[in-house]
Amino acid sequence: MSAYDGLLREVACYYSAPVSNFIVTSALDFVSSILLDNETKDMTISPRTPSYPEYSRMLSGIPYAYAYCVFPCTLPLREYVQCMPDLAIVLNHVNDILSHYKEEIQGDTANYLTLMAASRGLTKQNALQELIEKTVQAHQNILEFLKPCPEAYDAYVAFFDGFIKAHTTVKRYKLEEVMSERSSS
Ligand SMILES: [Mg+2]
Repeated sequence: MSAYDGLLREVACYYSAPVSNFIVTSALDFVSSILLDNETKDMTISPRTPSYPEYSRMLSGIPYAYAYCVFPCTLPLREYVQCMPDLAIVLNHVNDILSHYKEEIQGDTANYLTLMAASRGLTKQNALQELIEKTVQAHQNILEFLKPCPEAYDAYVAFFDGFIKAHTTVKRYKLEEVMSERSSS
């Protein structure tokens, strides 16, 4: 925790005031989300509050801290800030999609897809399909929006490539099992 504290204090040395604030508040939200998870274990998910899964995921995913780190700190905010909500969707949900297999076979239900399916009365398979469509749309929105600014566009594309590889190349997500099942079936 003191290492995390030290890192957060350093953020202001590298980023402008609004950007460093966004990074720090998102990083602090993550700490709160761990406390929230603890307090809400076994809580019944209500269909009357369908935005709760988004709220909970925006806290736990640290998406804005990551999103602001995608772009060089020398790049003016106006070049990329409008794609931040879509980028938060990509950051959270690429992980939800690519870690789904690992979490299913481990019987892990403390995740966004389980919450979202329960709150919307969907099967997890249908929830996953919907989430994939939403995430692809967010990715396309970002690419379209950033096109006029090559520096921002290239930073996003390089990030996205690495983000996908970070999921597909580590054993943790067991994606090679999914791929081999696909090719043998
Ligand atoms: Mg996950």
